Amino acid sequence: MDFSPADLHIHSTFSDGTTTLEQIAAIARERGMDAGVADHCGPGSFQLDTDQRFERYFEAVSRLPVYRSVELDLGREITVSPGNLERCDYLIGGVHSLDGRDFFDGSLDWEDVPSLLDRMLETIEEKARIFAFDILAHPGLLPVNLRPRRGDILDGRWGDRLIGLALEHGFALEISSRWEVPSAGIIKRAASAGVRFSLGSDAHRPEQVCRLDRSLALARECGLDGADLFRPARQLAEKIA
Ligand SMILES: [Zn+2]
Ligand SMILES: [Zn+2]
Repeated sequence: MDFSPADLHIHSTFSDGTTTLEQIAAIARERGMDAGVADHCGPGSFQLDTDQRFERYFEAVSRLPVYRSVELDLGREITVSPGNLERCDYLIGGVHSLDGRDFFDGSLDWEDVPSLLDRMLETIEEKARIFAFDILAHPGLLPVNLRPRRGDILDGRWGDRLIGLALEHGFALEISSRWEVPSAGIIKRAASAGVRFSLGSDAHRPEQVCRLDRSLALARECGLDGADLFRPARQLAEKIA
């Protein structure tokens, strides 16, 4: 494989991660990998929910040799101003809930799967228009009760529609090491259509930072190389030994 991988999706103590920014920078250096911090951004106290909190976060991340990003909570209203979001090296968008229903709430029953799938794509498209995010996190992450059926639910027409959106709006599809999405089938179809990819651990704990085992195995299986990957434009400062 002709590229040096970067983990562009890492959470810190500024949202719901347990890893400090300094630890993230140290682990990345140890593993010889570039790292991007992308804390949750949306309403709610565990997220970056105000310009003031964003400012503190951005200043702290800027002191370290890591990329500065946020993971926009696409199913909800973003409460940090666009001018602040633009200062990031890149933006990630992720769907974690729809219409006030949380994908992580196992007590919710999602009976109308076709309309859920439509709403996921509509939300991605609407927010891609507004925020022009660079990476779609965990594409096809489903409500917890539906996850065992993800292959049947996502791989056909939904996958093709997702690929169409990625091409139209120019966002990369994240190959997640945490979630079992997207599938090799979607990655291969997306790659031959010219979509780019990014690799992400979605780490919330130190031992997950810069661990891209599933992402790299899939990238290899699907024959991806450096030209298929999104990379932030900014060069990271020389890492201090
Ligand atoms: Zn996410
Ligand atoms: Zn995340």
